[in-house]
Amino acid sequence: MTHDVARFLPWQRAMAHEWLAASQRFAHAWLIHGLAGIGKRDFALAAAASLLCEAPAQGLACGACDACRWMAAGNHPDFRRIRPEAVAVQEGEAADETEAQAKKAPSREIRVEQVRALSGWLSTASHRGGWRVAVIYPAQTMNVITANALLKVLEEPPPRSVFLLTTDAPDRLLPTIVSRCRRLPLPVPPHDDSTAWLRENGVEQPADWLAAAGGAPLRARDLAQSGDTACPAWLQTFLNDLARSGQHSASAVAAAADAIERVQAEQWIDALQRAFIDLSLTAVGAPPRYFPSQSARMTQIVSTADPVALTETVKWLAQQRAVAAHPLSPKLFIHSALQRCALACGPARVRRTA
Ligand SMILES: [Zn+2]
Repeated sequence: MTHDVARFLPWQRAMAHEWLAASQRFAHAWLIHGLAGIGKRDFALAAAASLLCEAPAQGLACGACDACRWMAAGNHPDFRRIRPEAVAVQEGEAADETEAQAKKAPSREIRVEQVRALSGWLSTASHRGGWRVAVIYPAQTMNVITANALLKVLEEPPPRSVFLLTTDAPDRLLPTIVSRCRRLPLPVPPHDDSTAWLRENGVEQPADWLAAAGGAPLRARDLAQSGDTACPAWLQTFLNDLARSGQHSASAVAAAADAIERVQAEQWIDALQRAFIDLSLTAVGAPPRYFPSQSARMTQIVSTADPVALTETVKWLAQQRAVAAHPLSPKLFIHSALQRCALACGPARVRRTA
């Protein structure tokens, strides 16, 4: 299987160019962090290709030399890509044979063996006499044991080796890992760059999708590929029902619960959380950030809602996201979450006596 060599996304090029120009004085470990869905992995892979390229054009990978061809084919000997098995499968790689034979679900964590294997790789000479690059993502999927194994590897790196870690949750990393890395924050791309890129990638109404994704273009593209409308149909119906029924929302909850049973928990919780951030904004007279198309319904809902209950619901949904992957009873979980949301939209006195 051959791919093109990894390229920087349009909004990354200027920054990448400047950063790579200083590569001779590089720190040996970088923590590339920023909002989910802005292209941190793309940045790290394109950086690896550029560092390994044997005829870089203005610091960026040429796409034509031996090194670039190996990178495109995924077999450059001086490159390692460390990610959880589950991420590899998502990216289209075949599942690890031993895990497939054992019929285990692919791991959502980076395994300690993956990191330990780096020691052997680093102790032999670089094949092409240039850089050695390991890209590790998402870095927060290392548990404590794995992270400590990486610390050992980072302690005495051979010259001209560089580790690129990416994360959207630097606070979930071991502080000792963070302190070993130079930080490279990637900003949210400018709105116009993102909408132009989305349009090039076949996304219609890019501004709506970008809003729904909180300004993160890759996330917006994924949302657009998985849904019909930037505000999911079930959420539109739910908001509509809440706007009409006020606290008599049992039927709204039941209808929405049916609709999201087949939606991934993380997705519907995210959507609800965004809707409640928008409701909180609407309650203080600000425009909605994520679902501008729902502005009228939201105005109607907040006319009777308690703003404090709305912001509390945003926090509560954020906490649920952490446990969402493994609810004991998905049906019950959906129902109670929706009920709580509906209740937050009712008048304050109803909730206090409830
Ligand atoms: Zn090249």
